[in-house]
Amino acid sequence: MNVLILGSGGREHAFTLKLTESKKINQLFVAPGNAGTAKIATNININPTDFNAVKSTVLEKRIDMVVVGPEAPLVAGVHDFFLADDDLKNIPVIGPKKDGATLEGSKDFSKQFMQKHNVPTAKYKSFTKENLTEGFAFLETLEPPYVLKADGLAAGKGVLILNSLKEAKAELKEMVSNQKFGDASSTVVIEEFLKGIELSVFVLTDGKNYKILPSAKDYKRIGEGDTGLNTGGMGAISPVPFADDAFLNKVEELVVKPTIEGLRKDGIDYRGFIFIGLMNDNGNPSVVEYNVRMGDPETEVVLPRIESDLFELFDGVANQNLDEKSFKVTSKTATTVMLVSGGYPEAYQKHKEITGLENVKESSVFHAGTTILDNKVVSNGGRVMAITSFGDTIEEALEKSYRSIDKIHFDKMNYRKDIGFDLT
Ligand code: ATP
Repeated sequence: MNVLILGSGGREHAFTLKLTESKKINQLFVAPGNAGTAKIATNININPTDFNAVKSTVLEKRIDMVVVGPEAPLVAGVHDFFLADDDLKNIPVIGPKKDGATLEGSKDFSKQFMQKHNVPTAKYKSFTKENLTEGFAFLETLEPPYVLKADGLAAGKGVLILNSLKEAKAELKEMVSNQKFGDASSTVVIEEFLKGIELSVFVLTDGKNYKILPSAKDYKRIGEGDTGLNTGGMGAISPVPFADDAFLNKVEELVVKPTIEGLRKDGIDYRGFIFIGLMNDNGNPSVVEYNVRMGDPETEVVLPRIESDLFELFDGVANQNLDEKSFKVTSKTATTVMLVSGGYPEAYQKHKEITGLENVKESSVFHAGTTILDNKVVSNGGRVMAITSFGDTIEEALEKSYRSIDKIHFDKMNYRKDIGFDLT
Protein backbone atom coordinates (compact mmCIF):
# COMPACT_ATOMS: atom_id res chain seq x y z
CA MET A 1 0.00 0.00 0.00
CA ASN A 2 1.17 3.51 -0.81
CA VAL A 3 0.02 6.13 1.67
CA LEU A 4 0.10 9.93 1.37
CA ILE A 5 0.11 11.99 4.57
CA LEU A 6 -0.88 15.65 4.25
CA GLY A 7 0.86 18.14 6.56
CA SER A 8 4.28 19.21 7.77
CA GLY A 9 4.36 19.16 11.57
CA GLY A 10 5.46 16.94 14.41
CA ARG A 11 2.04 15.30 14.22
CA GLU A 12 2.68 14.22 10.63
CA HIS A 13 6.19 13.00 11.48
CA ALA A 14 4.64 10.89 14.25
CA PHE A 15 2.04 9.47 11.80
CA THR A 16 4.78 8.71 9.30
CA LEU A 17 7.00 6.94 11.83
CA LYS A 18 4.11 4.85 13.13
CA LEU A 19 3.09 3.84 9.61
CA THR A 20 6.65 2.73 8.76
CA GLU A 21 6.09 -0.02 11.37
CA SER A 22 3.25 -1.53 9.34
CA LYS A 23 4.06 -4.54 7.15
CA LYS A 24 1.36 -3.55 4.68
CA ILE A 25 3.02 -0.26 3.77
CA ASN A 26 4.97 -0.18 0.57
CA GLN A 27 5.76 3.51 0.04
CA LEU A 28 5.05 6.53 2.25
CA PHE A 29 4.76 10.10 0.95
CA VAL A 30 4.36 13.28 3.00
CA ALA A 31 3.17 16.58 1.52
CA PRO A 32 4.92 18.87 2.17
CA GLY A 33 6.65 17.15 5.15
CA ASN A 34 9.81 18.32 6.92
CA ALA A 35 13.44 17.23 7.42
CA GLY A 36 12.30 14.43 9.76
CA THR A 37 9.78 12.90 7.37
CA ALA A 38 12.36 13.19 4.53
CA LYS A 39 14.48 10.59 6.33
CA ILE A 40 11.77 7.92 6.52
CA ALA A 41 9.48 8.79 3.60
CA THR A 42 9.38 10.83 0.39
CA ASN A 43 8.44 14.48 0.76
CA ILE A 44 6.35 16.07 -1.98
CA ASN A 45 6.53 19.83 -2.04
CA ILE A 46 2.88 20.80 -2.54
CA ASN A 47 0.38 22.70 -0.44
CA PRO A 48 -2.23 20.32 1.10
CA THR A 49 -5.02 22.80 0.34
CA ASP A 50 -4.13 22.79 -3.37
CA PHE A 51 -6.44 19.88 -4.20
CA ASN A 52 -5.43 19.65 -7.85
CA ALA A 53 -1.79 19.26 -6.80
CA VAL A 54 -2.89 16.59 -4.29
CA LYS A 55 -4.77 14.81 -7.09
CA SER A 56 -1.73 14.82 -9.40
CA THR A 57 0.42 13.38 -6.61
CA VAL A 58 -2.13 10.67 -5.79
CA LEU A 59 -2.37 9.54 -9.40
CA GLU A 60 1.33 9.81 -10.16
CA LYS A 61 2.47 7.95 -7.03
CA ARG A 62 -0.36 5.41 -7.14
CA ILE A 63 -1.56 6.30 -3.66
CA ASP A 64 -3.98 3.87 -1.97
CA MET A 65 -4.91 5.99 1.05
CA VAL A 66 -4.66 9.65 2.13
CA VAL A 67 -4.25 10.63 5.79
CA VAL A 68 -5.02 14.27 6.54
CA GLY A 69 -3.04 15.85 9.41
CA PRO A 70 -4.21 19.48 9.79
CA GLU A 71 -7.75 20.92 9.80
CA ALA A 72 -7.38 23.38 6.90
CA PRO A 73 -7.70 20.84 4.04
CA LEU A 74 -10.59 19.12 5.86
CA VAL A 75 -12.54 22.32 6.46
CA ALA A 76 -11.84 23.27 2.82
CA GLY A 77 -13.36 19.92 1.72
CA VAL A 78 -10.50 17.67 0.61
CA HIS A 79 -12.51 14.53 1.40
CA ASP A 80 -15.53 15.82 -0.58
CA PHE A 81 -13.17 16.65 -3.47
CA PHE A 82 -12.04 13.00 -3.58
CA LEU A 83 -15.59 11.65 -3.47
CA ALA A 84 -16.66 13.92 -6.33
CA ASP A 85 -13.80 12.88 -8.63
CA ASP A 86 -14.09 9.68 -10.68
CA ASP A 87 -10.34 9.02 -10.49
CA LEU A 88 -10.19 9.52 -6.72
CA LYS A 89 -13.50 8.38 -5.27
CA ASN A 90 -12.31 4.89 -4.35
CA ILE A 91 -9.22 6.11 -2.52
CA PRO A 92 -10.00 6.34 1.20
CA VAL A 93 -9.35 9.63 2.98
CA ILE A 94 -8.76 9.50 6.73
CA GLY A 95 -10.45 12.69 7.93
CA PRO A 96 -14.06 13.91 7.83
CA LYS A 97 -15.88 15.53 4.94
CA LYS A 98 -16.80 19.21 5.09
CA ASP A 99 -20.02 18.50 7.03
CA GLY A 100 -18.12 16.73 9.83
CA ALA A 101 -15.26 19.23 9.74
CA THR A 102 -17.76 21.97 10.65
CA LEU A 103 -17.51 20.64 14.22
CA GLU A 104 -14.18 22.48 14.28
CA GLY A 105 -14.83 25.08 11.57
CA SER A 106 -17.82 26.64 13.37
CA LYS A 107 -18.10 26.92 17.15
CA ASP A 108 -21.75 27.89 16.80
CA PHE A 109 -22.40 24.65 14.89
CA SER A 110 -20.50 22.54 17.41
CA LYS A 111 -22.38 24.09 20.35
CA GLN A 112 -25.73 23.46 18.60
CA PHE A 113 -24.62 19.88 17.94
CA MET A 114 -23.70 19.32 21.60
CA GLN A 115 -26.95 20.81 22.83
CA LYS A 116 -29.01 18.74 20.39
CA HIS A 117 -27.31 15.48 21.40
CA ASN A 118 -27.07 16.17 25.14
CA VAL A 119 -23.28 16.32 25.26
CA PRO A 120 -22.29 18.18 28.45
CA THR A 121 -20.87 21.63 27.61
CA ALA A 122 -20.99 25.19 28.92
CA LYS A 123 -24.27 27.08 28.58
CA TYR A 124 -24.05 29.46 25.58
CA LYS A 125 -25.71 31.78 23.09
CA SER A 126 -24.51 33.09 19.74
CA PHE A 127 -24.70 36.68 18.52
CA THR A 128 -24.08 38.75 15.39
CA LYS A 129 -24.10 42.52 14.86
CA GLU A 130 -27.85 42.25 14.25
CA ASN A 131 -28.55 41.28 17.87
CA LEU A 132 -25.65 42.93 19.68
CA THR A 133 -27.87 44.43 22.40
CA GLU A 134 -29.14 40.96 23.25
CA GLY A 135 -25.49 39.90 23.49
CA PHE A 136 -24.87 42.66 26.05
CA ALA A 137 -27.96 41.51 27.98
CA PHE A 138 -26.77 37.88 27.91
CA LEU A 139 -23.36 38.90 29.26
CA GLU A 140 -25.14 40.58 32.18
CA THR A 141 -26.74 37.26 33.14
CA LEU A 142 -23.33 35.56 33.42
CA GLU A 143 -20.74 35.60 36.18
CA PRO A 144 -17.16 36.65 35.30
CA PRO A 145 -14.87 35.57 33.75
CA TYR A 146 -16.64 36.00 30.40
CA VAL A 147 -15.78 33.69 27.51
CA LEU A 148 -16.14 35.08 23.96
CA LYS A 149 -15.36 32.92 20.96
CA ALA A 150 -15.14 33.83 17.29
CA ASP A 151 -17.33 31.31 15.47
CA GLY A 152 -14.85 30.51 12.69
CA LEU A 153 -11.21 29.43 12.56
CA ALA A 154 -8.94 32.14 13.97
CA ALA A 155 -5.61 30.30 14.28
CA GLY A 156 -6.17 29.57 17.98
CA LYS A 157 -6.50 33.31 18.77
CA GLY A 158 -10.26 33.73 18.54
CA VAL A 159 -11.08 32.98 22.18
CA LEU A 160 -11.10 35.80 24.73
CA ILE A 161 -11.48 35.25 28.47
CA LEU A 162 -12.19 38.54 30.22
CA ASN A 163 -12.74 39.54 33.81
CA SER A 164 -14.66 42.78 33.40
CA LEU A 165 -18.17 43.09 32.02
CA LYS A 166 -17.30 46.43 30.42
CA GLU A 167 -14.36 44.92 28.59
CA ALA A 168 -16.45 41.90 27.54
CA LYS A 169 -19.10 44.17 26.00
CA ALA A 170 -16.46 46.25 24.21
CA GLU A 171 -14.74 43.15 22.81
CA LEU A 172 -18.05 41.65 21.69
CA LYS A 173 -18.72 44.82 19.72
CA GLU A 174 -15.19 44.77 18.25
CA MET A 175 -15.66 41.17 17.17
CA VAL A 176 -19.08 41.35 15.52
CA SER A 177 -19.23 44.96 14.32
CA ASN A 178 -15.59 45.71 13.56
CA GLN A 179 -14.62 42.18 12.48
CA LYS A 180 -11.77 41.91 14.98
CA PHE A 181 -11.06 38.39 13.66
CA GLY A 182 -12.34 39.09 10.14
CA ASP A 183 -15.23 36.96 8.94
CA ALA A 184 -14.47 34.40 11.66
CA SER A 185 -15.97 36.74 14.26
CA SER A 186 -19.11 37.92 12.43
CA THR A 187 -20.80 35.38 14.74
CA VAL A 188 -19.59 35.14 18.35
CA VAL A 189 -20.35 32.40 20.85
CA ILE A 190 -20.62 33.66 24.42
CA GLU A 191 -20.44 30.92 27.00
CA GLU A 192 -20.30 30.21 30.67
CA PHE A 193 -16.79 29.86 32.14
CA LEU A 194 -15.99 26.25 33.02
CA LYS A 195 -13.98 25.43 36.13
CA GLY A 196 -11.72 22.42 36.38
CA ILE A 197 -8.59 20.95 34.78
CA GLU A 198 -8.27 20.60 31.04
CA LEU A 199 -7.31 17.52 29.07
CA SER A 200 -7.80 16.06 25.61
CA VAL A 201 -9.36 12.77 24.62
CA PHE A 202 -8.93 11.43 21.09
CA VAL A 203 -11.27 9.16 19.21
CA LEU A 204 -10.80 7.36 15.89
CA THR A 205 -14.10 6.48 14.23
CA ASP A 206 -15.34 4.80 11.07
CA GLY A 207 -18.74 6.45 11.51
CA LYS A 208 -20.21 3.45 13.37
CA ASN A 209 -17.48 2.04 15.58
CA TYR A 210 -14.81 3.88 17.51
CA LYS A 211 -11.59 3.43 19.44
CA ILE A 212 -10.76 5.77 22.30
CA LEU A 213 -7.07 6.63 22.01
CA PRO A 214 -4.87 7.58 24.98
CA SER A 215 -5.73 10.88 26.66
CA ALA A 216 -3.21 13.73 26.91
CA LYS A 217 -2.59 17.08 28.54
CA ASP A 218 -0.86 19.82 26.60
CA TYR A 219 0.91 23.01 27.66
CA LYS A 220 -0.20 25.96 25.55
CA ARG A 221 1.59 28.97 27.05
CA ILE A 222 5.10 30.00 26.09
CA GLY A 223 6.26 30.66 29.66
CA GLU A 224 6.93 28.47 32.65
CA GLY A 225 4.09 28.22 35.14
CA ASP A 226 1.63 28.61 32.23
CA THR A 227 2.38 32.27 31.69
CA GLY A 228 2.78 34.47 28.62
CA LEU A 229 1.36 34.16 25.13
CA ASN A 230 -0.49 31.17 23.72
CA THR A 231 1.43 28.93 21.34
CA GLY A 232 0.58 25.94 19.19
CA GLY A 233 1.69 23.81 22.18
CA MET A 234 4.96 23.54 24.11
CA GLY A 235 4.72 19.97 25.34
CA ALA A 236 2.37 17.14 26.27
CA ILE A 237 1.97 14.20 28.64
CA SER A 238 0.06 10.93 28.17
CA PRO A 239 -1.68 9.38 30.06
CA VAL A 240 -3.17 12.11 32.24
CA PRO A 241 -3.01 11.09 35.92
CA PHE A 242 -6.17 13.00 36.87
CA ALA A 243 -8.18 11.19 34.18
CA ASP A 244 -8.83 7.94 36.06
CA ASP A 245 -10.96 5.05 34.83
CA ALA A 246 -14.12 6.38 36.46
CA PHE A 247 -13.69 9.73 34.70
CA LEU A 248 -12.83 8.14 31.35
CA ASN A 249 -15.89 5.89 31.61
CA LYS A 250 -18.03 9.00 32.05
CA VAL A 251 -16.31 10.55 29.02
CA GLU A 252 -17.18 7.48 26.96
CA GLU A 253 -20.81 7.30 28.09
CA LEU A 254 -21.65 11.01 28.25
CA VAL A 255 -19.47 12.41 25.47
CA VAL A 256 -18.04 9.86 23.02
CA LYS A 257 -21.13 7.69 22.49
CA PRO A 258 -23.58 10.61 22.05
CA THR A 259 -21.11 12.34 19.72
CA ILE A 260 -20.71 9.33 17.42
CA GLU A 261 -24.42 8.57 17.60
CA GLY A 262 -25.28 12.26 17.01
CA LEU A 263 -23.14 12.39 13.88
CA ARG A 264 -24.83 9.27 12.57
CA LYS A 265 -28.33 10.58 13.36
CA ASP A 266 -27.51 13.87 11.63
CA GLY A 267 -26.45 11.98 8.49
CA ILE A 268 -22.78 12.92 8.85
CA ASP A 269 -20.64 9.98 7.72
CA TYR A 270 -17.54 10.78 9.77
CA ARG A 271 -14.34 8.86 9.08
CA GLY A 272 -11.36 10.05 11.04
CA PHE A 273 -10.14 11.52 14.30
CA ILE A 274 -12.16 13.54 16.79
CA PHE A 275 -10.11 15.49 19.29
CA ILE A 276 -12.28 16.35 22.28
CA GLY A 277 -11.06 19.21 24.48
CA LEU A 278 -12.53 18.57 27.93
CA MET A 279 -12.73 20.15 31.32
CA ASN A 280 -12.65 17.77 34.29
CA ASP A 281 -14.64 19.50 37.03
CA ASN A 282 -14.55 17.32 40.12
CA GLY A 283 -14.76 14.16 38.04
CA ASN A 284 -17.42 15.43 35.65
CA PRO A 285 -16.55 16.02 31.99
CA SER A 286 -17.68 19.05 30.01
CA VAL A 287 -16.69 19.60 26.38
CA VAL A 288 -14.73 22.78 25.62
CA GLU A 289 -14.28 22.10 21.92
CA TYR A 290 -14.14 19.53 19.17
CA ASN A 291 -11.31 19.42 16.68
CA VAL A 292 -11.55 17.21 13.63
CA ARG A 293 -7.93 16.05 13.57
CA MET A 294 -5.28 15.00 16.04
CA GLY A 295 -3.58 17.58 18.28
CA ASP A 296 -0.01 18.70 17.93
CA PRO A 297 2.04 18.05 20.12
CA GLU A 298 -0.43 15.56 21.67
CA THR A 299 0.03 13.18 18.72
CA GLU A 300 3.71 12.94 19.62
CA VAL A 301 2.76 11.26 22.93
CA VAL A 302 -0.48 9.52 21.91
CA LEU A 303 0.68 7.60 18.82
CA PRO A 304 3.92 6.24 20.32
CA ARG A 305 1.80 4.65 23.08
CA ILE A 306 -0.34 2.74 20.57
CA GLU A 307 1.10 -0.72 20.06
CA SER A 308 -1.30 -1.82 17.32
CA ASP A 309 -0.71 -1.38 13.60
CA LEU A 310 -1.88 2.14 12.69
CA PHE A 311 -2.43 1.24 9.04
CA GLU A 312 -4.78 -1.58 10.11
CA LEU A 313 -6.76 0.91 12.19
CA PHE A 314 -6.99 3.28 9.19
CA ASP A 315 -8.04 0.35 7.03
CA GLY A 316 -10.81 -0.30 9.58
CA VAL A 317 -11.92 3.34 9.26
CA ALA A 318 -11.99 3.06 5.47
CA ASN A 319 -13.92 -0.25 5.46
CA GLN A 320 -16.13 0.47 8.47
CA ASN A 321 -14.86 -2.53 10.38
CA LEU A 322 -12.82 -0.75 13.03
CA ASP A 323 -14.51 -2.99 15.63
CA GLU A 324 -12.61 -5.99 14.20
CA LYS A 325 -9.19 -4.36 14.58
CA SER A 326 -6.92 -5.03 17.52
CA PHE A 327 -6.15 -2.03 19.68
CA LYS A 328 -3.45 -2.08 22.34
CA VAL A 329 -1.88 0.74 24.31
CA THR A 330 1.22 0.61 26.50
CA SER A 331 0.73 1.56 30.15
CA LYS A 332 4.01 3.49 30.06
CA THR A 333 3.97 7.26 30.24
CA ALA A 334 5.09 9.34 27.27
CA THR A 335 6.24 12.94 27.56
CA THR A 336 7.16 15.40 24.85
CA VAL A 337 8.92 18.76 25.10
CA MET A 338 8.80 21.16 22.15
CA LEU A 339 11.92 23.05 21.10
CA VAL A 340 11.00 26.42 19.62
CA SER A 341 12.77 29.28 17.86
CA GLY A 342 13.78 32.20 20.12
CA GLY A 343 11.08 34.90 19.95
CA TYR A 344 8.25 32.48 19.09
CA PRO A 345 5.21 32.91 19.22
CA GLU A 346 6.17 36.42 18.10
CA ALA A 347 8.81 37.19 15.43
CA TYR A 348 11.66 34.69 15.14
CA GLN A 349 14.43 33.79 12.73
CA LYS A 350 14.54 30.70 10.55
CA HIS A 351 17.30 28.61 9.00
CA LYS A 352 19.37 28.03 12.14
CA GLU A 353 21.46 24.89 11.86
CA ILE A 354 20.37 22.13 14.27
CA THR A 355 23.20 20.01 15.63
CA GLY A 356 23.58 17.06 17.99
CA LEU A 357 20.55 15.07 16.81
CA GLU A 358 22.75 12.01 16.21
CA ASN A 359 23.59 11.95 19.93
CA VAL A 360 19.97 11.52 21.01
CA LYS A 361 19.60 7.85 21.97
CA GLU A 362 16.88 7.62 24.61
CA SER A 363 14.15 9.76 22.98
CA SER A 364 12.34 10.08 19.65
CA VAL A 365 12.80 13.35 17.81
CA PHE A 366 9.69 14.47 15.92
CA HIS A 367 10.51 17.26 13.52
CA ALA A 368 8.00 20.10 13.14
CA GLY A 369 9.42 23.32 11.62
CA THR A 370 12.57 21.94 10.01
CA THR A 371 13.93 21.64 6.50
CA ILE A 372 17.13 20.66 4.75
CA LEU A 373 19.39 23.41 3.41
CA ASP A 374 22.83 22.66 1.92
CA ASN A 375 22.57 19.13 3.33
CA LYS A 376 22.05 20.46 6.84
CA VAL A 377 18.97 20.22 9.05
CA VAL A 378 17.83 23.78 9.80
CA SER A 379 14.91 25.37 11.63
CA ASN A 380 12.04 26.46 9.41
CA GLY A 381 9.25 27.51 11.79
CA GLY A 382 8.36 28.61 15.30
CA ARG A 383 7.92 25.13 16.72
CA VAL A 384 10.98 23.23 15.58
CA MET A 385 10.91 19.72 17.07
CA ALA A 386 9.28 17.64 19.80
CA ILE A 387 11.40 15.36 21.98
CA THR A 388 9.38 12.35 23.14
CA SER A 389 10.41 9.81 25.78
CA PHE A 390 8.89 6.89 27.65
CA GLY A 391 9.09 6.07 31.34
CA ASP A 392 7.40 4.05 34.05
CA THR A 393 6.60 7.40 35.64
CA ILE A 394 6.19 10.96 34.33
CA GLU A 395 9.43 11.91 36.13
CA GLU A 396 11.43 9.18 34.41
CA ALA A 397 10.11 10.08 30.95
CA LEU A 398 10.73 13.78 31.52
CA GLU A 399 14.28 13.18 32.72
CA LYS A 400 14.98 11.43 29.41
CA SER A 401 13.38 14.19 27.33
CA TYR A 402 15.39 16.88 29.12
CA ARG A 403 18.64 14.84 28.96
CA SER A 404 18.13 14.46 25.20
CA ILE A 405 17.46 18.19 24.81
CA ASP A 406 20.85 18.91 26.42
CA LYS A 407 22.44 17.19 23.42
CA ILE A 408 20.60 19.29 20.80
CA HIS A 409 21.57 22.79 19.82
CA PHE A 410 20.46 25.62 17.56
CA ASP A 411 20.93 29.36 17.90
CA LYS A 412 18.29 30.92 20.24
CA MET A 413 16.67 27.52 20.96
CA ASN A 414 13.97 27.87 23.62
CA TYR A 415 11.78 25.37 25.50
CA ARG A 416 9.79 25.11 28.69
CA LYS A 417 11.64 23.47 31.53
CA ASP A 418 8.50 22.68 33.54
CA ILE A 419 6.45 20.45 31.23
CA GLY A 420 4.53 17.93 33.33
CA PHE A 421 5.81 19.26 36.67
CA ASP A 422 2.27 20.08 37.78
CA LEU A 423 1.41 16.38 37.41
CA THR A 424 4.35 14.92 39.35
P1 ATP B 1 -7.37 25.78 20.17
O1 ATP B 1 -6.15 26.61 19.88
O2 ATP B 1 -7.27 24.96 21.43
O3 ATP B 1 -7.89 25.01 19.00
P2 ATP B 1 -9.72 27.36 19.89
O4 ATP B 1 -9.49 28.70 19.31
O5 ATP B 1 -10.33 26.32 19.03
O6 ATP B 1 -8.42 26.86 20.57
P3 ATP B 1 -11.16 26.72 22.36
O7 ATP B 1 -10.41 25.46 22.50
O8 ATP B 1 -12.64 26.66 22.31
O9 ATP B 1 -10.66 27.60 21.14
O10 ATP B 1 -10.69 27.65 23.57
C1 ATP B 1 -9.32 27.93 23.79
C2 ATP B 1 -9.00 27.76 25.26
O11 ATP B 1 -9.77 28.68 26.04
C3 ATP B 1 -9.36 26.39 25.80
O12 ATP B 1 -8.33 25.47 25.59
C4 ATP B 1 -9.60 26.68 27.28
O13 ATP B 1 -8.38 26.72 27.99
C5 ATP B 1 -10.19 28.07 27.26
N1 ATP B 1 -11.65 27.99 27.28
C6 ATP B 1 -12.47 27.91 26.22
N2 ATP B 1 -13.75 27.85 26.59
C7 ATP B 1 -13.76 27.89 27.93
C8 ATP B 1 -14.80 27.90 28.92
N3 ATP B 1 -16.09 27.86 28.59
N4 ATP B 1 -14.43 27.95 30.20
C9 ATP B 1 -13.14 28.01 30.57
N5 ATP B 1 -12.12 28.05 29.70
C10 ATP B 1 -12.41 27.98 28.39
